[in-house]
Amino acid sequence: MLEAMPSAPVTTEQMNLRVSDRQQAGPAPFESWGRYPSYGANVIPLHWQSDFSAIAPSLLNGALPVGMGRSYGDACLLKDGNLLVTTGMNRLIEFDPESGLLTAEAGITLAQILDFAVPRGFFLPVSPGTKYVTIGGAIANDIHGKNHHMAGTFGRHVMQFELMRSDGSRRLCSPTENSDWYAATIGGLGITGLITWATLRLKPIVSRLIEYEGIQFHGIDEFLALTEQSKDIEYTVSWVDVTSTGKNFARGIFMQGDHSQKRDTLTPSPKPKLVFPFDAPGFALNRLSVSLFNTAYFHKQFSKRSVSIEDYEPFFFPLDKVLHWNRMYGKRGLLQFQYVIPWEHAKEGTVAILHEVAKSGLASFLAVLKAFGDVPSPGMMSFPKPGITLALDFPIKPDKTFPVVHRLAEMVLEFGGRLYPAKDAAMTARQFQAFYPQWQQFSRYRDPLLTSSFWERVTGDTPAS
Ligand SMILES: Cc1cc2nc3c(=O)[nH]c(=O)nc-3n(C[C@H](O)[C@H](O)[C@H](O)COP(=O)(O)OP(=O)(O)OC[C@H]3O[C@@H](n4cnc5c(N)ncnc54)[C@H](O)[C@@H]3O)c2cc1C
Repeated sequence: MLEAMPSAPVTTEQMNLRVSDRQQAGPAPFESWGRYPSYGANVIPLHWQSDFSAIAPSLLNGALPVGMGRSYGDACLLKDGNLLVTTGMNRLIEFDPESGLLTAEAGITLAQILDFAVPRGFFLPVSPGTKYVTIGGAIANDIHGKNHHMAGTFGRHVMQFELMRSDGSRRLCSPTENSDWYAATIGGLGITGLITWATLRLKPIVSRLIEYEGIQFHGIDEFLALTEQSKDIEYTVSWVDVTSTGKNFARGIFMQGDHSQKRDTLTPSPKPKLVFPFDAPGFALNRLSVSLFNTAYFHKQFSKRSVSIEDYEPFFFPLDKVLHWNRMYGKRGLLQFQYVIPWEHAKEGTVAILHEVAKSGLASFLAVLKAFGDVPSPGMMSFPKPGITLALDFPIKPDKTFPVVHRLAEMVLEFGGRLYPAKDAAMTARQFQAFYPQWQQFSRYRDPLLTSSFWERVTGDTPAS
């Protein structure tokens, strides 16, 4: 079956670009989700796949394709360069309900795909913690979700895509055709070329509902035991309280779920109505307020185990309920920090890092712990590998946050792990090059026009002109 149809437009509230920003004279600010760093850039919307090659010869100071700006740091920024916003390039191209293969332009968001696919009995093969990301962004960071231990990364479900270079050449990339370009572009940080469209394999579902179980745990040993017991459950993820010490050290809630197999109506999701209305003052999120929140969150589940049936929206995308929730961190923004440490040192590394965070006096509100499985990532630069991953967020306090995050990154290095570029604004060039020793081999695939502030920061590569 061939279905070509426009998807519902992305609203300015969903984008990380506000109407007031668009009306300002001069370069419009395009913020990443962490709101740090903040750089001026020339924001150019792309509407058609051919727009890129048409404008490329006239672009000075380099360019970077961007999606929804849901990366936290500077992977989606280019200081004083050109940001090519792809969200206008969001058409559905083809769908086969027999195989679940969906082809769409790269600027379509996962939210738009779900609106189309769920009523037809299909779901995303891999879902990150927000549905407001484009498939171009999902491929370029080779994102992962709660089913990594079974499904691997997003890139594994991308059957093929087209890569357009700034010289106008187009390559069809798949595991068998231009396979080196396929591997370089999945997790390729947006600098190998513009992904114009991609084909994904969706998975069948019969219900919107998730059979959920939440289990309280105390300490990393209990977390690891639960991980082992839940190997056959499709989705697992844990929240961990990083402010508690003593007998409550590393307490958390292990959350697991499977798609319900009971046939049900498959309606599209309602649109979110809540918007975080203002930039909270810098002191709002402090160690005391976060530790009070953490205690309340841990005890919101009264018993050790709780079982329920819930809609997929709060299970996969709890934070999407409030648009612009990042304003809660105030104008200075937040630093995200996500590592993976391989199994050999995963437990000792995670315990040491949790102690260091507790000692630092910094508070992390959204601390997410998960075990990555051993399904290989298809990208040359993909972040996930087997081991423990922990994602932390820290409000930016200039004198305090950066030294702590630097120390944590050094610990990750010592334990043989690496950090996630999509969630980084602080790793040094030395750290990046040790985390990703293949970076020089990868840089041979970089498009001469394309670069990012992240890439320049961690490689010292000079911008294209
Ligand atoms: C609340 C929240 C939860 C998250 N949870 C997860 C999670 O669970 N797992 C996870 O892995 N990530 C997670 N992320 C990070 C997010 O999934 C990634 O940063 C994702 O890449 C963002 O997609 P985007 O469309 O916003 O892309 P952007 O952030 O705008 O860009 C990301 C990268 O993609 C490149 N790019 C974008 N479009 C194209 C294109 N058409 N062609 C070539 N390159 C392109 C850009 O150059 C950039 O390098 C989360 C982020 C948020 C805010």
